Amino acid sequence: MTMRKTAAAGALVLALTMTATACGGESGTAGDKPAGGDVYDGTYKVAENIKIDSAVLKKAQKAKKIRIGVKADQPFLGFQNATSKKYSGFDIEIAKMIAADLGFSKDQIDFKTINSNSRETTISRGAIDYYVGTYTINDERKQQVGFAGPYYTAGADLLVRKEDKSITGPDSLKGKKVCSIVGSTPLQEIKKPKYGAETIEDGTYSDCVKKLVDNQVDAVTTDDAILKGYAAQRPEKLRVIGKPFTKEPYGVGMIKDDKALRDAITTALENHIKNGDYKKAYAETLGKSGSDFVAPETPLPRY
Ligand code: GLU
Repeated sequence: MTMRKTAAAGALVLALTMTATACGGESGTAGDKPAGGDVYDGTYKVAENIKIDSAVLKKAQKAKKIRIGVKADQPFLGFQNATSKKYSGFDIEIAKMIAADLGFSKDQIDFKTINSNSRETTISRGAIDYYVGTYTINDERKQQVGFAGPYYTAGADLLVRKEDKSITGPDSLKGKKVCSIVGSTPLQEIKKPKYGAETIEDGTYSDCVKKLVDNQVDAVTTDDAILKGYAAQRPEKLRVIGKPFTKEPYGVGMIKDDKALRDAITTALENHIKNGDYKKAYAETLGKSGSDFVAPETPLPRY
């Protein structure tokens, strides 16, 4: 760990301790404890007179609301405060940057919590206008939805109990109980016979983390960016192995055939990467759980 990161981690632990104290101690599940990413709420300049030939956007303009699918239990990425109901985290900031460029202010955003397993169906039936939630771009999903990005690249890793030294990486999982969630790419990966793991499938990552803390499973697998957030919430109990074994390029998901919307969202991402909003938001959210900053390559791919 570098000096800078050590200092940041120390500040985070302090912030978490203070938050936990303010809330009257630990709550039942790992997922509903507030975290560092919980406090940042960036504001982005809202574009005016937007004229884009997108069916989705026209409907949203008429309703004066934009509906964005996100996660609610991923600290520093997409996290909903149990008390205030406010969403925060890196993905939430990305969602807001895009909304601003499409002409929607923060209070015109309707965030909807959508878990991994319902993403494609929710997007396809038009129940949300776009989705920002650790959503890996891949060819299989591209058959069903459209993607803009990648705006970040994570990798599948392992979260274990701090004192467990028997798991050292993906090649030490033989006979181990590994939890992941339905509809996620790391679950597909860990089911491969080469790992020899017994997989436990759940609906949300916070359920998996609870099982890990309660000794019902030996590890949780998903993207390192997500796992680092859980480890930062409970540094006395959990740690991330730190040997990513897949590449998970994150995209903004949307209905498959609205090319105008896809192009507009791609341009919005490029704008905010270039003007520094992206880097600032990263530092205030994901950067605080120990994920290193890597500037995404621009121009982003278009299709
Ligand atoms: N990025 C992976 C995926 O899209 C795992 C994280 C998630 O479930 O959102 O499947």
